[in-house]
Amino acid sequence: MVVKGVSGAGRATGHPSPTPTPSSPPRLVPDKSHTCERSRNATGSLSGADRSTARDAALWSAADVEARMEFSLASAYAHGTAALRTHLINMTPAQVALTWPAFARVRDRWAGRVELQGVSLVALSHFRDADAAAALADTVAAHGGILGAAVCCAENGGDPDDDWTTCDGDRDALLDRAFSLAAARSLDLDFHVDENGNRAATGLVDVARAALRCGFRGRVVCGHACSLAALPAPALATALAVVREAGVTVVSLPLVNEWTQDRDPAGRRAPRWRGVPPLLEVAAAGVRVALASDNVRDQFYAYGDYDLLAVLARATSIAHLDAPHGAWPAAVTRTPADAMSLPHLGRLAPSLPAHFVAFRARAFSELFARPQSDRVVVRAGLAIAAELPEYDSLDAASSLAPPRGFGAPSGGYAGRLSPAPSLANGGGLPGLPRGLEGGVTTDARALRRLPAVDEAGAPPRAPRAALAAAAAVGAAAGAAAAVVCMRARSGKWG
Ligand SMILES: [Zn+2]
Repeated sequence: MVVKGVSGAGRATGHPSPTPTPSSPPRLVPDKSHTCERSRNATGSLSGADRSTARDAALWSAADVEARMEFSLASAYAHGTAALRTHLINMTPAQVALTWPAFARVRDRWAGRVELQGVSLVALSHFRDADAAAALADTVAAHGGILGAAVCCAENGGDPDDDWTTCDGDRDALLDRAFSLAAARSLDLDFHVDENGNRAATGLVDVARAALRCGFRGRVVCGHACSLAALPAPALATALAVVREAGVTVVSLPLVNEWTQDRDPAGRRAPRWRGVPPLLEVAAAGVRVALASDNVRDQFYAYGDYDLLAVLARATSIAHLDAPHGAWPAAVTRTPADAMSLPHLGRLAPSLPAHFVAFRARAFSELFARPQSDRVVVRAGLAIAAELPEYDSLDAASSLAPPRGFGAPSGGYAGRLSPAPSLANGGGLPGLPRGLEGGVTTDARALRRLPAVDEAGAPPRAPRAALAAAAAVGAAAGAAAAVVCMRARSGKWG
């Protein structure tokens, strides 16, 4: 799944450096976001994500979906995102009826702060039922959305056995139907394609060929396209030539795909490939490339925070986008804005509103080295005061709180931070503020009570003691992480 956004532009020179507001490139899935703790992906794989997402969908209600969408938008806005495209899971009629009205309410509330676009996400096989497909296209049109489908996108995508997204016998006919439904309603198209490493997964090229065959005049976006990495150079060149001719924008979701692709369900074999398409070759072939978050804290990716700077930084390392950095910042600014038909976003120009993000960095090495938590998000020339929402604000609405106990006793990758046993059983550390005797907390209220650094800049003794104690306890990996978290949240230490 994918979330996309558009935020400030990015140039890491000067001090601070203004970057056009990231637009969240097309691929976010706030309808699933923040569900990773209550419905765990037991294997961390793509098929495990599909199964656990289907389980979690039974827990969706309007209040649940809306609360998580709100949280997601608030995070994206605070990080500097000005526009965001989300894919809405529409596998069942109940999901269609639930997600689009929730999406519309959230979109209206955020209008002027984050431009929200929605894409219907179904498997390609959904288009076999002509009436159901037309009804879905009507719903999408009624909400000003974008029509979508997943093509060759399952774990065994490209295999004739995958009759869900590969549809071996009638793929072209189904794609033609999708294009024709979109054209008749003046809708753009946005596909999930080839989210695997299978050479036989050719969804990207098949979508591009369909666009050319149908003479489609709208915009076409394809996300993932991981299987391009499995192609030998000549076949890759041929495929990219078709994609370029069709004008398809490719959106890569490096964080998510690095996480799910080539994962051993048993958790014993390390991955052998990075899970992302060969972005250098894709861009060199003249294909427009955007980068996006995709999943955030759900079954497809347990982490993430709708921060496009983090996406760009990670993508730079994963896909070697720094030889040179060149125009790659446009992959989270101008390119997604254009793909989303928002030409006033993702760039700086005298005639446009001053939407940008200022970072304390003079070079990419400085920009990507730190989380840039002190960035200044400027909208229409004014710095905004938005803060990231607290995770516990989600707990009551959606039963999303992590379960008690360190690790993941019920399986899966999730796990709550909690005091290391030796710290908890030892009665705490001397010198820590009241409420932090265990040495570890993720309680935001407790963090706010922490002492500030003194005038001379000396760090308070208690945190140093906590850090040293945590480091000394071999089993306290969670404790060490939480102490680091405390330092970051206080904003006053160190
Ligand atoms: Zn995706």
